[in-house]
Amino acid sequence: MVSKTKLVIVGAGPAGLGVGILLKKLGFDAFKIVEREEIGASFLRWPKEMKLITPSFTGQGFGALDLNAIAPNTSPAYSMHREHLTGEEYKEYLELLVAHFDLPIQENWEVNNVRKEGKQFYVEGESGTIEANAVIWASGEYAFAKKDAFPGANLALHNSEVRSWTELPKDHHYVIGGFESAMDAAIQLVRCGSDVTVLMTDELSELGQADPSLRLSPYTSERLEWAMNTGRVKLQPNSRVTKLEWKGRKRWRIHLIGDRLIESLSQPVLANGFHSGARQISSLFEWQTNGKPLLTKEADESTLTKNLFLTGANVQHENAVFCFIYKFRQRFAVIVRQLFERWGLPIDNEVLSDYRDNQMLMEDLSCCEVLCEC
Ligand SMILES: Cc1cc2nc3c(=O)[nH]c(=O)nc-3n(C[C@H](O)[C@H](O)[C@H](O)COP(=O)(O)OP(=O)(O)OC[C@H]3O[C@@H](n4cnc5c(N)ncnc54)[C@H](O)[C@@H]3O)c2cc1C
Repeated sequence: MVSKTKLVIVGAGPAGLGVGILLKKLGFDAFKIVEREEIGASFLRWPKEMKLITPSFTGQGFGALDLNAIAPNTSPAYSMHREHLTGEEYKEYLELLVAHFDLPIQENWEVNNVRKEGKQFYVEGESGTIEANAVIWASGEYAFAKKDAFPGANLALHNSEVRSWTELPKDHHYVIGGFESAMDAAIQLVRCGSDVTVLMTDELSELGQADPSLRLSPYTSERLEWAMNTGRVKLQPNSRVTKLEWKGRKRWRIHLIGDRLIESLSQPVLANGFHSGARQISSLFEWQTNGKPLLTKEADESTLTKNLFLTGANVQHENAVFCFIYKFRQRFAVIVRQLFERWGLPIDNEVLSDYRDNQMLMEDLSCCEVLCEC
């Protein structure tokens, strides 16, 4: 069965929902959001103990938007009374917005393929096909763990597969990775009574970096300081893992550069990040060498497929990385403005201007020389 609409948004995470809310605010209704699981599904999969590292605070009365808000005049801090929300709490904030803005979402609708014929898109799934003039891809990355980073990487337990750190045995654990997720894993394991060695490629970069994508967040730094003070965490730089082997009977062999070997009696934890979810429709994008889709700077549009846009944490223009909510929400208006201009729809600039808490990010990407591993 083929249904028709003007625009399909794929994914009901903060990015897809954030764009949907902006469309609603502009009075545009001819769109659908399809979600393969449920609203905010990625946040439900976070380990129970994990919290947003970006703090929430209710500052909108004085013009400062909560860092984790996806729409102006909303605030997870206000709704949930929390500074660092768990995944479940953040999902609740998203659900409140869906109800308030009456967003047109179809859950349990997985997109298997997107096809373009002439000017029309055909968004295909088991539940049917939707024909549309434009597609906004907002699939995130949480379901696409980098379990192919080195031979045997799939033998490790990726941090996105952990439901609760309490489920792991009290032991000596090796954590592979050197940034936010790895430090969070180490902190949680120490809390559960384990000892941890973090195998890192480089030293933790600390000084001289202002961007939280390059430098540990204050939230993680504080907690890491506590964990280090227990004497049960060791950070081991210059330890790039080249291979992982399972030697049977709860024995893993970790190969490091320089022909070094470590025997581990617990399954190593891999906290090395994610691939772009846009790989699901990879042929519709050109790809950068860093594994991110190549997009136009004017509209975050595929350089290969007109009217296919990308939103969310996967958006990267050279060194400008939009991996946090407070960064990527500034690109919602860029996409929507472009679509409205193409379709000859009237644009309410007052609504769009609410999304410009950093005008430079929207218009001059050269201002943000940042790299990120988040
Ligand atoms: C461990 C971790 C911690 C993080 N902490 C923070 C933080 O503290 N602050 C911050 O700002 N950001 C943080 N981020 C970044 C975070 O990923 C984003 O802020 C946010 O989740 C991205 O939103 P999104 O909508 O792009 O993706 P998601 O939240 O992942 O939403 C994408 C949705 O698309 C759906 N989907 C995927 N494929 C399909 C398909 N084929 N068909 C239909 N639906 C599909 C998924 O089910 C999902 O619901 C963190 C990320 C990770 C991995």
